[in-house]
Amino acid sequence: MIIAIDGPAGSGKSTVSKLLAEKLGFLYLDTGAMYRALTLKVIREKIDSRDEKKIESIAAGLNFRFQDGRVFLDNEDVTQAIRAPQIDKNISDVCKIKKVREYIVALARKIARNYSCVTEGRDTTTVIFPAAEFKFYLDADYKVRAERRYGELSAKGINISREEVAADLKRRDEADMSRTVGPLKKSADAQVIDTTAFSIDEVVRILAEKITSA
Ligand code: C5P
Repeated sequence: MIIAIDGPAGSGKSTVSKLLAEKLGFLYLDTGAMYRALTLKVIREKIDSRDEKKIESIAAGLNFRFQDGRVFLDNEDVTQAIRAPQIDKNISDVCKIKKVREYIVALARKIARNYSCVTEGRDTTTVIFPAAEFKFYLDADYKVRAERRYGELSAKGINISREEVAADLKRRDEADMSRTVGPLKKSADAQVIDTTAFSIDEVVRILAEKITSA
């Protein structure tokens, strides 16, 4: 079974998806982590983020896996490294490349062949898993999303201002919604949930109820 959840950064989808996957005993398939790992590799190899051909070839040979809730790139645990603000700054250039998206879509589908999954990202309900049994779109007020993202980074000891986090979020929202391949949009058959006024636990409960009562 596939439960697909899309939405903008800070909508709560990562934390919700992880908890929901634990609750159901499903794999948590974080498609953003794949784009993040690829971006990390692009930065480490000092590739110009506009060099599409080079980025495509790295994506084609990406040695990536999820294991025990951790993210591995070239057999290195990069779970923390892929959350750095530098990744947020560069990721939009990487994930707008058509061929890159095709590789990541194929990789996500390959992983999902062997597991029931809770998957999340920007195009999981529209492109990667259009036949998912359950589709949700999580949203929240921009200010609340920016504050959540700032809280996440601060909790990790990352030194960044509220203003910078808010500006980055806005820029990523715009890039995610306007790109021509795999843009963030509400799938017509997704259940839309505004998480602005809800705690993470409340959102998990709402989703779990919708799934178990279906
Ligand atoms: O969800 P997360 O914030 O980790 O995603 C990081 C970035 O990866 C997003 O800003 C988006 O640009 C990109 N992404 C994507 N398609 C997905 C998942 C993430 O383009 N399915």
